[in-house]
Amino acid sequence: MTTQEMQAAFEEAYGRKAEKIFFSPGRVNLIGEHTDYNGGCVFPCALSFGAWLLIAKNADGVLRFRSMNMEQVYEIKIDAIAPQPNRAWCNYALGCIDIIKRRHPDAELQSGYDLLYYGNVPAGAGLSSSAAMEVVTARAFTEEMAVCDQDSLPFGYPDEKAYRTELALIGQACEHEYAGVMCGIMDQCASAQGKKDHAIYLNCDTLEFEHVPVKLDGIKVVISNTHSPHHLDSGAYNDRVRQCHTAVEQISKVKPIKFLAELSEEDWKEVESAITDPIAKKRARHVVGEVARTAAAVEALKRGEIAYFGELMTASHVSLRDDYEVTGPELDALAEAAWQVDGVLGSRMTGGGFGGCTVSLVKDEAIERFKAFVGSEYEKKTGLKADFYVAEIGDGVMRL
Ligand code: ADP
Ligand code: MG
Repeated sequence: MTTQEMQAAFEEAYGRKAEKIFFSPGRVNLIGEHTDYNGGCVFPCALSFGAWLLIAKNADGVLRFRSMNMEQVYEIKIDAIAPQPNRAWCNYALGCIDIIKRRHPDAELQSGYDLLYYGNVPAGAGLSSSAAMEVVTARAFTEEMAVCDQDSLPFGYPDEKAYRTELALIGQACEHEYAGVMCGIMDQCASAQGKKDHAIYLNCDTLEFEHVPVKLDGIKVVISNTHSPHHLDSGAYNDRVRQCHTAVEQISKVKPIKFLAELSEEDWKEVESAITDPIAKKRARHVVGEVARTAAAVEALKRGEIAYFGELMTASHVSLRDDYEVTGPELDALAEAAWQVDGVLGSRMTGGGFGGCTVSLVKDEAIERFKAFVGSEYEKKTGLKADFYVAEIGDGVMRL
């Protein structure tokens, strides 16, 4: 789909051309899973696929929402912005406009708007189509709603980095309040702060981050989609959060901590016996190990030690399977098949777990072999067909 084709679709829907086009990417997390709410770091990168938004002002005082991916069309009066029932897809956009107004009381929706979205992130696969949609909306409407001159950033943000962090926070608040999903900040940050051929070493507590170059000579990042209907539901997610909290409480009797991520692997040997709940102990062991693996993976990438990076990815999956117990048969089938392919440096589940995708590092010459073998092993074990995407690491949100 080209932007010309999107413009043609806009014209067909609304009878005139769009005034502006924006883009924001989906993301894949390379390593650092279930560390975010434990005070640790994650290491995602923005993808070259994501969500596009075309907009034009209208004189009708309404927001008209269309998506090339959805049948349902919505029309909402600009003085009646509120969450829409029945899991309406427009909530992921409408919420951002509402949140901008609440976070910036001087922001003003000057008129109605006609909107058209197009997304090419597979929805619900854990690659954050929702964050792409939120951040692209936040980007467009901060620009539209802020009273500022051409040369300055909306709301007087001193630099791009601070402005982009605000876009991520708007997106996250939208997801919490309009979509009812209590997500962390990783997805929106990756979509807002992405940089071509770089991954983002992000502290989800402070929102500080570092762009780390991803130089993979002759190696590709391959995403494999389980197409499994299983998801990490809020029940399983909340259980994990609670179990980590139990571990923090019990450890704090011998060594006061706020987050599990504060513990080094040496600390762990000293404190693990303080955790009396065996499930909490397994969960904490994953978090402490994953925080160390993520830091080691970032260092390995900086030194160009891609084989070691791959080994850490595989160790991450094993820990998520055995200690955190969030993989499930589909993700395990994909990862375990990938590990058998000559030319695969590492493979792990990415995202919350149970369904969604794996991420693998695969040598160029092994990619076809990888798809054929992993695809057939996966179908034999699960009866499902996997999909494969060779990922390109792209830039964060932008106006085109
Ligand atoms: P993901 O892992 O892809 O973020 P979510 O369940 O969080 O999965 O978000 C998917 C939802 O986001 C869709 O059901 C839809 O409501 C909304 N969405 C994502 N992309 C689009 C799009 N291009 N057009 C309309 N709605 C979209
Ligand atoms: Mg999402």
